[in-house]
Amino acid sequence: MSDDLFKILNAAQQHLDAGSADLPPYSAHPLGESASAILHQVADRLQDNYPYAHPLYAGQMLKPPHPIARAAYTLAMSINPNNHALDGGRASSAMEIEAVAALAKMFHWPQHLGHLSSGGTFANLEALWVAGQLMPGTAIAASDQAHYTHSRISSVLGLPFVTVPSDDRGRMDLTALEPLLATQNIGTVVVTLGTTAIGSVDPLDQILLLQKKYDFRIHVDAAYGGYFTLASNLSPETRTAFDAIPYVDSIVIDPHKHGLQPYGCGSILFRDPAVGRFYKHDSPYTYFSSKDLHLGEISLECSRAGASAVALWATQQLLPYTPGGVFAQGLESSHAAALELHHRLTESTHFLTPSSPPQLDIVFWAVNAPTPETSSALAQSIFDEAAKNDLHLALAKLPVRFFPHNTWLDTPKNDSENKVTCLRSVLMKPEHLLWLDHLWQRLQAAAVHEVASIPQ
Ligand SMILES: *Cc1c(COP(=O)(O)O)cnc(C)c1O
Repeated sequence: MSDDLFKILNAAQQHLDAGSADLPPYSAHPLGESASAILHQVADRLQDNYPYAHPLYAGQMLKPPHPIARAAYTLAMSINPNNHALDGGRASSAMEIEAVAALAKMFHWPQHLGHLSSGGTFANLEALWVAGQLMPGTAIAASDQAHYTHSRISSVLGLPFVTVPSDDRGRMDLTALEPLLATQNIGTVVVTLGTTAIGSVDPLDQILLLQKKYDFRIHVDAAYGGYFTLASNLSPETRTAFDAIPYVDSIVIDPHKHGLQPYGCGSILFRDPAVGRFYKHDSPYTYFSSKDLHLGEISLECSRAGASAVALWATQQLLPYTPGGVFAQGLESSHAAALELHHRLTESTHFLTPSSPPQLDIVFWAVNAPTPETSSALAQSIFDEAAKNDLHLALAKLPVRFFPHNTWLDTPKNDSENKVTCLRSVLMKPEHLLWLDHLWQRLQAAAVHEVASIPQ
């Protein structure tokens, strides 16, 4: 944390403390003599990590929280409010309601019912729990590229789960979905706007059209991708899918993925506030639109960090969700970085790329080798070699069918078991675009080093 931040945090802490200056003084836990030594031990232990905050970390889905989020969280922790109930945190509950309303507004919802959660998993659990009550006796359907949490949640809830195959770009295959809907057994379709592995975007606009023919709910899992609705540079196809979000029944978006928040900040939004009745049986619907709503009455989780809401609220004041604003530009920059990396990979003789460019900010590619097996082995060694030079990528085992049909001629493409280990990079930091040359040089060097060591 920069000195500047400690300075403004310290001043804000004094401001906060002044609010209770009229209470008799008391002594809290003394830090103790060993505190400093222990913190240094902690620092020492924490060095055993990848440098997640640095732009050369371009591997998994990790984005450092904004300093304002870190400062606001720290400030709130001196009170440690619990957003389960108004008694546990009046101000932080009010801030949560405002912060969640800002998320709903981003999706153009004039009204909603929603709250923050510990993460996308719990938020999706609530969405499917409500879906299960509204569509009893029917199944949840999600694509084979949806987050694995959906099949596990369905099993926790005792709901049947159906996997819908994806097309060769990792998007839900509508020719496979429609016959499933025709069976009348599907009550809810989970549409992923931004899959976690490759950032593919299910064709939500076309799935909505199917609602004219079949009766089913739509839950959008936008835990990772939701904020891209603010980006102005999405492809027309991706834009059309995002523009359909306002018409769905529920949305999950994780401020701790792309919203610059520390972990512990997911959210669930329902379009119809009346679903609040499922959370508390003895309250009429009107209760849930009352101003004195207790968040604990519309949430399955009980105790939750009020500090998460405070951090999100503060970040939204600094970086509002305005198209064309600084926050939106950060997402545009990430998408632009992904397009540029994909372009360079496509031009390179070392690598193989999928035929269409990334829809959001996740890029994946394979190493150019005669078989998926040798390609996979090389991906692993390039990953290791790049890490030695401080470039941190990720690996993902992906279906061979994600690559053009003439890529590995002897490998059956229609066999979904047929996988190749790919290199993968989530370019979620706004700085990644500026750092692209650095990333590229290190990747090239690692490839030259490894490919040269293999007899072709
Ligand atoms: C990350 C993610 C989840 C799970 O969310 P957590 O916050 O990790 O619990 C669910 N769905 C998608 C699409 C995700 O990217």
